[in-house]
Amino acid sequence: MTSLYLSVNSDFMFLVMIGPPGAGKGTQAKRLAETLGLSHVSTGEIFRQNISRKTELGLRVKELLEDGTLVPDDLTIELVQDKIDQLVNGSGAIFDGFPRNLEQAKALDDMLLLHDKGVDLAPLINLSDSNIIERLTGRRTDKDTGKIYHLIYDPPPDNANVEQRSDDKRDTVLRRIEDYHQSTVPMLAYYDDRDLLCEIDGDNTIDQVTTALLEVIRGRVFA
Ligand code: ADP
Ligand code: ADP
Repeated sequence: MTSLYLSVNSDFMFLVMIGPPGAGKGTQAKRLAETLGLSHVSTGEIFRQNISRKTELGLRVKELLEDGTLVPDDLTIELVQDKIDQLVNGSGAIFDGFPRNLEQAKALDDMLLLHDKGVDLAPLINLSDSNIIERLTGRRTDKDTGKIYHLIYDPPPDNANVEQRSDDKRDTVLRRIEDYHQSTVPMLAYYDDRDLLCEIDGDNTIDQVTTALLEVIRGRVFA
């Protein structure tokens, strides 16, 4: 398993998970982080934690998240900058939900370059718009552990303390899908041009998607 830690950055691997809301980025990022020994960073999760702790950042972004509106780039990039500074001495990281547009993708490269590092792979989990709605309306999150469940596809145990995200309502979901097409899809070419983008079909079972992701990561990053 030691070769798992060898990447093009020699001892540091940096992955960015891309995909529409509900594609399975969080579910898969948690699994991959555990299997590959990487830190998992979800900007959405960091925002939600700040909201529930009522921090200054939380108060600033609360309404935006509830409306399914993207947080301004300067605020999001500043948050990621702090994370990168903490992470560069570890074995690497898997980002989920960042970058979400071209400006963020360029800012991420600049931040990593300062540490002589770069993005190794950008797995894109694809899912059709009609499947996204079903995924998000059934999503439940464990309040204590952050584990992600789905009422039909990955049901929570009876004793789990689950809640529904306030932005997983139909209207909000439609706005987030629109944002994905407007802001994130134009960013894909940025990674594709450097042969870093690899597409995965998100419409398979959770286990099948994990297997497909591990195959491309092992094939591309550890080759
Ligand atoms: P999902 O995985 O369902 O798309 P996330 O947890 O990644 O949701 O994000 C939830 C919300 O957090 C977004 O709708 C947005 O308001 C905010 N957010 C998360 N990441 C970013 C980002 N990179 N840029 C701007 N806003 C973000
Ligand atoms: P994202 O982070 O991309 O918004 P999540 O990982 O939170 O997506 O997954 C969205 C919902 O879909 C969750 O309820 C999760 O349990 C479920 N889910 C994730 N991957 C799959 C899959 N391959 N098949 C069925 N349901 C899935």
